[in-house]
Amino acid sequence: MARSGRDEPRKLDPEKTEGGLPMWDRSGRIRKLIDRGLISTAEEIPTRAIPVDPDCSTKAGTWSPEVYYEDIDFQCAACGRTERWTAQSQLQYFEVVHASPHKRPKHCYDCRQAEVVRKAQARRDAGHTRD
Ligand SMILES: [Zn+2]
Repeated sequence: MARSGRDEPRKLDPEKTEGGLPMWDRSGRIRKLIDRGLISTAEEIPTRAIPVDPDCSTKAGTWSPEVYYEDIDFQCAACGRTERWTAQSQLQYFEVVHASPHKRPKHCYDCRQAEVVRKAQARRDAGHTRD
């Protein structure tokens, strides 16, 4: 199939993330982090945080000394609303979508959705619609 020029963000199904996709095994990840010398004890990973998978993520190995994901609150650059980037969605983003480890959310969900709609409309207005 030809590339369609889609630029909608990859949808993450909250039902599936709730159900634990991908399955992450806290103690297995902690063991690997200790084996690699990235942490020395399990206590370095806060209870609410998700340890990174050093096999899967570039986060622990090459990017920063961070060895776990934790919820981050950020302010939307467009509307100024504070939104939470959860540890689970960071895991999805870096380990499933394989986003650049430097990526950080700039906009809240509503503003991202509005941008998707705006771009689709702009494409239609420019006569780029295929169907
Ligand atoms: Zn916003």
